Amino acid sequence: MPETSLLRKAQLKSLDFATITEVASARKAVNEPTLSFEFFPPKDETGEANLWSAFDKLLEVSPDYVSVTYGAGGSNRERSLAVVDRMAKQVLTIGHLTCVGATKQSTLEIVQHFERAGVGAILALRGDSPKDDPDALDKGELKTALELVELVAEFTDLEIGVAAFPEVHPESPNMEHDSKVLALKQSAGATFAVTQLFFSVQAYTDLVASANAAGASLPIVPGVMPISNAKQVVRMAELSGAAIPAELLAKFDAADDEQAREIGMQYSTQLAIDLVAAGAPGIHIFTLNHHAAAIELARGAGLCR
Ligand code: FAD
Repeated sequence: MPETSLLRKAQLKSLDFATITEVASARKAVNEPTLSFEFFPPKDETGEANLWSAFDKLLEVSPDYVSVTYGAGGSNRERSLAVVDRMAKQVLTIGHLTCVGATKQSTLEIVQHFERAGVGAILALRGDSPKDDPDALDKGELKTALELVELVAEFTDLEIGVAAFPEVHPESPNMEHDSKVLALKQSAGATFAVTQLFFSVQAYTDLVASANAAGASLPIVPGVMPISNAKQVVRMAELSGAAIPAELLAKFDAADDEQAREIGMQYSTQLAIDLVAAGAPGIHIFTLNHHAAAIELARGAGLCR
Protein backbone atom coordinates (compact mmCIF):
# COMPACT_ATOMS: atom_id res chain seq x y z
CA MET A 1 0.00 0.00 0.00
CA PRO A 2 1.16 3.58 -0.60
CA GLU A 3 2.47 5.28 2.50
CA THR A 4 1.61 8.32 4.62
CA SER A 5 -1.97 8.82 3.50
CA LEU A 6 -4.08 11.21 5.51
CA LEU A 7 -7.74 10.74 6.35
CA ARG A 8 -10.31 13.39 5.55
CA LYS A 9 -12.84 13.56 8.36
CA ALA A 10 -14.91 16.73 7.97
CA GLN A 11 -18.40 15.94 6.68
CA LEU A 12 -19.16 18.83 4.33
CA LYS A 13 -22.28 18.93 2.18
CA SER A 14 -21.22 20.01 -1.28
CA LEU A 15 -24.49 21.77 -2.10
CA ASP A 16 -24.19 23.96 1.00
CA PHE A 17 -21.52 25.86 -0.93
CA ALA A 18 -22.11 28.18 -3.87
CA THR A 19 -18.65 28.16 -5.43
CA ILE A 20 -15.49 26.08 -5.67
CA THR A 21 -13.61 28.72 -3.69
CA GLU A 22 -16.16 28.47 -0.85
CA VAL A 23 -15.93 24.70 -0.51
CA ALA A 24 -12.14 24.78 -0.90
CA SER A 25 -11.93 27.41 1.88
CA ALA A 26 -14.04 25.24 4.16
CA ARG A 27 -11.69 22.31 3.56
CA LYS A 28 -8.63 24.50 4.06
CA ALA A 29 -10.06 25.73 7.36
CA VAL A 30 -9.92 22.17 8.69
CA ASN A 31 -6.59 21.49 6.99
CA GLU A 32 -8.04 18.96 4.54
CA PRO A 33 -7.66 18.69 0.75
CA THR A 34 -10.64 18.81 -1.58
CA LEU A 35 -11.74 15.73 -3.51
CA SER A 36 -13.38 16.13 -6.91
CA PHE A 37 -14.18 14.00 -9.96
CA GLU A 38 -14.26 14.72 -13.70
CA PHE A 39 -16.78 13.11 -16.06
CA PHE A 40 -17.39 13.32 -19.79
CA PRO A 41 -20.76 13.37 -21.59
CA PRO A 42 -21.70 9.89 -22.88
CA LYS A 43 -21.93 9.16 -26.62
CA ASP A 44 -24.70 6.52 -26.55
CA GLU A 45 -27.13 4.69 -24.29
CA THR A 46 -24.54 2.27 -22.93
CA GLY A 47 -22.25 5.19 -22.11
CA GLU A 48 -25.16 6.95 -20.47
CA ALA A 49 -25.88 3.99 -18.19
CA ASN A 50 -22.17 3.71 -17.27
CA LEU A 51 -21.93 7.40 -16.48
CA TRP A 52 -24.89 7.54 -14.12
CA SER A 53 -23.98 4.32 -12.38
CA ALA A 54 -20.42 5.64 -11.83
CA PHE A 55 -21.74 9.03 -10.73
CA ASP A 56 -24.09 7.49 -8.13
CA LYS A 57 -21.29 5.38 -6.67
CA LEU A 58 -18.86 8.31 -6.62
CA LEU A 59 -21.41 10.53 -4.85
CA GLU A 60 -21.36 8.02 -1.99
CA VAL A 61 -17.79 9.08 -1.13
CA SER A 62 -18.89 12.74 -0.79
CA PRO A 63 -16.81 14.65 -3.35
CA ASP A 64 -16.63 18.41 -2.79
CA TYR A 65 -17.44 18.99 -6.45
CA VAL A 66 -17.48 17.35 -9.88
CA SER A 67 -16.78 18.63 -13.38
CA VAL A 68 -18.19 17.81 -16.82
CA THR A 69 -16.13 18.17 -20.02
CA TYR A 70 -17.35 19.92 -23.15
CA GLY A 71 -16.43 18.99 -26.73
CA ALA A 72 -14.29 21.53 -28.58
CA GLY A 73 -16.37 23.10 -31.33
CA GLY A 74 -19.53 22.36 -29.35
CA SER A 75 -19.68 18.82 -30.80
CA ASN A 76 -21.40 17.41 -27.71
CA ARG A 77 -23.01 20.61 -26.50
CA GLU A 78 -26.51 19.24 -25.77
CA ARG A 79 -25.23 16.11 -24.03
CA SER A 80 -22.76 18.09 -21.95
CA LEU A 81 -25.41 20.56 -20.84
CA ALA A 82 -27.84 17.75 -19.99
CA VAL A 83 -25.22 16.07 -17.79
CA VAL A 84 -24.42 19.38 -16.06
CA ASP A 85 -28.14 20.04 -15.47
CA ARG A 86 -28.60 16.68 -13.77
CA MET A 87 -25.37 16.66 -11.74
CA ALA A 88 -25.73 20.25 -10.51
CA LYS A 89 -28.93 19.27 -8.66
CA GLN A 90 -26.98 16.76 -6.59
CA VAL A 91 -23.46 18.12 -6.11
CA LEU A 92 -21.49 21.33 -6.70
CA THR A 93 -20.65 21.13 -10.41
CA ILE A 94 -18.16 22.79 -12.75
CA GLY A 95 -19.25 23.06 -16.37
CA HIS A 96 -16.26 23.03 -18.74
CA LEU A 97 -16.69 25.38 -21.68
CA THR A 98 -14.51 25.69 -24.77
CA CYS A 99 -14.61 28.69 -27.09
CA VAL A 100 -12.72 27.46 -30.18
CA GLY A 101 -14.78 28.21 -33.30
CA ALA A 102 -17.61 29.82 -31.31
CA THR A 103 -19.29 33.22 -31.50
CA LYS A 104 -19.53 35.43 -28.42
CA GLN A 105 -23.31 35.24 -28.58
CA SER A 106 -23.51 31.42 -28.66
CA THR A 107 -20.90 31.23 -25.89
CA LEU A 108 -22.88 33.59 -23.68
CA GLU A 109 -26.02 31.51 -24.24
CA ILE A 110 -24.23 28.46 -22.83
CA VAL A 111 -22.86 30.48 -19.92
CA GLN A 112 -26.41 31.61 -19.15
CA HIS A 113 -27.58 28.00 -19.34
CA PHE A 114 -24.92 27.10 -16.75
CA GLU A 115 -26.11 29.95 -14.53
CA ARG A 116 -29.69 28.66 -14.69
CA ALA A 117 -28.46 25.13 -13.92
CA GLY A 118 -26.84 26.51 -10.74
CA VAL A 119 -23.24 25.46 -11.44
CA GLY A 120 -20.52 26.31 -8.93
CA ALA A 121 -18.16 27.54 -11.66
CA ILE A 122 -17.26 27.24 -15.30
CA LEU A 123 -13.86 26.00 -16.44
CA ALA A 124 -12.99 28.45 -19.23
CA LEU A 125 -10.98 26.70 -21.94
CA ARG A 126 -9.97 27.45 -25.48
CA GLY A 127 -10.20 23.85 -26.73
CA ASP A 128 -8.46 22.65 -29.89
CA SER A 129 -9.75 22.82 -33.47
CA PRO A 130 -11.54 19.50 -34.18
CA LYS A 131 -9.93 17.16 -36.77
CA ASP A 132 -12.88 17.63 -39.15
CA ASP A 133 -12.65 21.44 -38.86
CA PRO A 134 -8.95 22.33 -38.59
CA ASP A 135 -9.57 26.06 -39.19
CA ALA A 136 -12.13 26.39 -36.39
CA LEU A 137 -9.87 28.59 -34.27
CA ASP A 138 -9.39 31.09 -37.11
CA LYS A 139 -13.13 31.18 -37.84
CA GLY A 140 -14.34 31.69 -34.25
CA GLU A 141 -14.73 35.04 -32.49
CA LEU A 142 -12.81 34.02 -29.36
CA LYS A 143 -9.15 33.09 -29.90
CA THR A 144 -7.93 32.23 -26.39
CA ALA A 145 -9.27 31.07 -23.05
CA LEU A 146 -8.26 34.49 -21.70
CA GLU A 147 -10.86 36.12 -23.98
CA LEU A 148 -13.43 33.63 -22.67
CA VAL A 149 -12.54 34.49 -19.06
CA GLU A 150 -12.96 38.20 -19.89
CA LEU A 151 -16.33 37.57 -21.54
CA VAL A 152 -17.70 35.48 -18.67
CA ALA A 153 -16.41 37.97 -16.08
CA GLU A 154 -17.99 40.87 -17.93
CA PHE A 155 -21.47 39.37 -18.26
CA THR A 156 -21.94 37.09 -15.24
CA ASP A 157 -21.04 36.58 -11.59
CA LEU A 158 -20.10 32.95 -12.14
CA GLU A 159 -16.87 31.72 -10.60
CA ILE A 160 -14.26 30.99 -13.28
CA GLY A 161 -11.59 28.30 -13.33
CA VAL A 162 -8.95 27.73 -16.01
CA ALA A 163 -6.53 25.04 -17.23
CA ALA A 164 -2.88 24.73 -16.16
CA PHE A 165 -0.12 22.58 -17.62
CA PRO A 166 2.58 20.96 -15.41
CA GLU A 167 4.31 19.69 -18.58
CA VAL A 168 3.88 23.00 -20.49
CA HIS A 169 1.10 23.53 -23.06
CA PRO A 170 2.15 21.94 -26.39
CA GLU A 171 1.93 25.31 -28.23
CA SER A 172 3.88 27.23 -25.56
CA PRO A 173 7.59 28.05 -25.87
CA ASN A 174 8.14 27.37 -22.14
CA MET A 175 6.55 27.26 -18.70
CA GLU A 176 7.25 30.94 -18.04
CA HIS A 177 5.03 31.80 -21.02
CA ASP A 178 2.22 29.58 -19.69
CA SER A 179 2.63 31.19 -16.27
CA LYS A 180 2.31 34.71 -17.68
CA VAL A 181 -0.89 33.63 -19.45
CA LEU A 182 -2.16 32.13 -16.18
CA ALA A 183 -1.46 35.41 -14.38
CA LEU A 184 -3.40 37.29 -17.09
CA LYS A 185 -6.33 34.90 -16.62
CA GLN A 186 -6.24 35.53 -12.86
CA SER A 187 -6.23 39.31 -13.42
CA ALA A 188 -9.22 38.86 -15.74
CA GLY A 189 -11.20 37.04 -13.02
CA ALA A 190 -10.13 33.38 -12.81
CA THR A 191 -9.97 32.19 -9.20
CA PHE A 192 -8.64 28.64 -9.54
CA ALA A 193 -6.93 26.32 -12.02
CA VAL A 194 -7.08 22.58 -12.68
CA THR A 195 -4.15 20.81 -14.30
CA GLN A 196 -3.72 18.53 -17.26
CA LEU A 197 -2.67 14.98 -16.35
CA PHE A 198 0.98 14.48 -15.35
CA PHE A 199 3.02 11.90 -13.49
CA SER A 200 5.53 13.54 -11.15
CA VAL A 201 5.27 15.73 -8.06
CA GLN A 202 8.19 17.79 -9.36
CA ALA A 203 6.20 18.77 -12.48
CA TYR A 204 3.47 20.13 -10.21
CA THR A 205 5.73 21.97 -7.75
CA ASP A 206 7.68 23.50 -10.67
CA LEU A 207 4.41 24.73 -12.16
CA VAL A 208 3.26 26.29 -8.87
CA ALA A 209 6.64 27.97 -8.35
CA SER A 210 6.64 29.31 -11.92
CA ALA A 211 3.04 30.54 -11.62
CA ASN A 212 3.79 32.29 -8.32
CA ALA A 213 6.89 33.94 -9.80
CA ALA A 214 4.71 35.30 -12.63
CA GLY A 215 2.17 36.67 -10.14
CA ALA A 216 -0.43 33.89 -10.50
CA SER A 217 -1.32 33.03 -6.91
CA LEU A 218 -4.61 31.25 -7.60
CA PRO A 219 -4.97 27.70 -6.19
CA ILE A 220 -3.87 25.07 -8.73
CA VAL A 221 -5.66 21.75 -8.27
CA PRO A 222 -3.74 18.80 -9.72
CA GLY A 223 -5.69 16.50 -12.04
CA VAL A 224 -4.72 12.89 -11.34
CA MET A 225 -5.45 9.92 -13.59
CA PRO A 226 -5.89 6.57 -11.81
CA ILE A 227 -3.66 4.17 -13.78
CA SER A 228 -5.94 1.13 -13.83
CA ASN A 229 -5.32 0.45 -17.52
CA ALA A 230 -1.65 1.17 -18.20
CA LYS A 231 -1.88 0.85 -22.01
CA GLN A 232 -4.74 3.34 -22.19
CA VAL A 233 -3.04 5.86 -19.85
CA VAL A 234 0.25 5.62 -21.76
CA ARG A 235 -1.68 6.46 -24.96
CA MET A 236 -3.43 9.39 -23.29
CA ALA A 237 -0.15 10.67 -21.88
CA GLU A 238 1.39 10.60 -25.36
CA LEU A 239 -1.54 12.57 -26.78
CA SER A 240 -1.34 15.24 -24.08
CA GLY A 241 2.47 15.46 -24.12
CA ALA A 242 2.83 14.25 -20.49
CA ALA A 243 5.99 12.27 -19.75
CA ILE A 244 5.59 8.95 -17.93
CA PRO A 245 8.76 8.25 -15.91
CA ALA A 246 11.01 5.74 -17.73
CA GLU A 247 11.18 3.59 -14.60
CA LEU A 248 7.40 3.24 -14.50
CA LEU A 249 7.23 2.47 -18.23
CA ALA A 250 9.84 -0.26 -17.77
CA LYS A 251 7.77 -1.80 -14.96
CA PHE A 252 4.67 -1.78 -17.20
CA ASP A 253 6.64 -3.44 -20.00
CA ALA A 254 7.68 -6.27 -17.72
CA ALA A 255 4.19 -6.81 -16.27
CA ASP A 256 1.04 -8.64 -17.37
CA ASP A 257 -2.24 -6.66 -17.36
CA GLU A 258 -3.14 -7.53 -13.77
CA GLN A 259 0.32 -6.67 -12.45
CA ALA A 260 0.35 -3.46 -14.51
CA ARG A 261 -2.93 -2.42 -12.88
CA GLU A 262 -1.50 -2.95 -9.42
CA ILE A 263 1.69 -1.06 -10.26
CA GLY A 264 -0.25 1.77 -11.93
CA MET A 265 -2.79 2.19 -9.13
CA GLN A 266 -0.08 2.16 -6.49
CA TYR A 267 1.84 4.79 -8.44
CA SER A 268 -1.11 7.13 -8.97
CA THR A 269 -2.27 6.76 -5.36
CA GLN A 270 1.19 7.61 -4.05
CA LEU A 271 1.31 10.56 -6.47
CA ALA A 272 -1.92 11.92 -4.94
CA ILE A 273 -0.54 11.49 -1.41
CA ASP A 274 2.73 13.22 -2.34
CA LEU A 275 0.92 16.08 -4.10
CA VAL A 276 -1.14 16.81 -1.00
CA ALA A 277 2.02 16.61 1.13
CA ALA A 278 3.64 19.09 -1.29
CA GLY A 279 0.83 21.57 -0.68
CA ALA A 280 -1.77 20.80 -3.38
CA PRO A 281 -5.18 22.19 -2.28
CA GLY A 282 -6.99 19.04 -3.40
CA ILE A 283 -7.06 16.21 -5.90
CA HIS A 284 -9.22 16.23 -9.04
CA ILE A 285 -9.60 12.66 -10.29
CA PHE A 286 -10.17 11.95 -13.99
CA THR A 287 -12.75 9.17 -13.70
CA LEU A 288 -13.25 8.34 -17.40
CA ASN A 289 -16.82 7.66 -16.21
CA HIS A 290 -15.77 4.62 -14.11
CA HIS A 291 -16.05 4.53 -10.35
CA ALA A 292 -13.85 1.62 -9.19
CA ALA A 293 -10.36 3.01 -9.90
CA ALA A 294 -11.37 6.53 -8.86
CA ILE A 295 -12.63 5.33 -5.46
CA GLU A 296 -9.61 3.05 -5.02
CA LEU A 297 -7.30 6.01 -5.60
CA ALA A 298 -9.28 8.39 -3.37
CA ARG A 299 -9.53 5.81 -0.59
CA GLY A 300 -5.88 4.78 -0.87
CA ALA A 301 -4.85 8.43 -0.55
CA GLY A 302 -7.08 8.91 2.50
CA LEU A 303 -9.39 11.30 0.68
CA CYS A 304 -12.48 9.25 1.52
CA ARG A 305 -13.52 6.31 3.66
P1 FAD B 1 -5.35 28.97 -23.88
O1 FAD B 1 -5.22 29.53 -22.52
O2 FAD B 1 -6.01 29.81 -24.90
O3 FAD B 1 -3.87 28.57 -24.35
C1 FAD B 1 -3.60 27.97 -25.61
C2 FAD B 1 -2.20 28.38 -26.03
O4 FAD B 1 -2.18 29.78 -26.35
C3 FAD B 1 -1.16 28.17 -24.94
O5 FAD B 1 0.03 27.80 -25.55
C4 FAD B 1 -1.04 29.55 -24.30
O6 FAD B 1 0.23 29.75 -23.69
C5 FAD B 1 -1.27 30.47 -25.51
N1 FAD B 1 -1.92 31.73 -25.11
C6 FAD B 1 -3.17 31.86 -24.56
N2 FAD B 1 -3.43 33.14 -24.31
C7 FAD B 1 -2.34 33.86 -24.68
C8 FAD B 1 -2.00 35.24 -24.65
N3 FAD B 1 -2.86 36.14 -24.18
N4 FAD B 1 -0.77 35.61 -25.08
C9 FAD B 1 0.12 34.69 -25.55
N5 FAD B 1 -0.15 33.36 -25.62
C10 FAD B 1 -1.37 32.95 -25.18
N6 FAD B 1 -10.63 20.50 -24.00
C11 FAD B 1 -11.89 20.33 -24.45
O7 FAD B 1 -12.12 20.35 -25.66
N7 FAD B 1 -12.95 20.12 -23.59
C12 FAD B 1 -12.78 20.08 -22.24
O8 FAD B 1 -13.74 19.91 -21.49
C13 FAD B 1 -11.45 20.23 -21.73
N8 FAD B 1 -11.21 20.17 -20.42
C14 FAD B 1 -9.93 20.39 -19.95
C15 FAD B 1 -9.72 20.37 -18.57
C16 FAD B 1 -8.44 20.59 -18.06
C17 FAD B 1 -8.24 20.55 -16.56
C18 FAD B 1 -7.36 20.83 -18.95
C19 FAD B 1 -5.98 21.06 -18.39
C20 FAD B 1 -7.56 20.85 -20.31
C21 FAD B 1 -8.85 20.63 -20.84
N9 FAD B 1 -9.10 20.65 -22.20
C22 FAD B 1 -10.38 20.45 -22.67
C23 FAD B 1 -8.00 20.80 -23.15
C24 FAD B 1 -7.75 22.27 -23.56
O9 FAD B 1 -8.86 22.80 -24.21
C25 FAD B 1 -6.54 22.27 -24.48
O10 FAD B 1 -5.39 21.92 -23.71
C26 FAD B 1 -6.26 23.53 -25.27
O11 FAD B 1 -5.18 23.26 -26.20
C27 FAD B 1 -5.77 24.72 -24.46
O12 FAD B 1 -6.73 25.21 -23.69
P2 FAD B 1 -6.45 26.51 -22.75
O13 FAD B 1 -7.73 26.79 -22.12
O14 FAD B 1 -5.26 26.31 -21.92
O15 FAD B 1 -6.11 27.59 -23.89
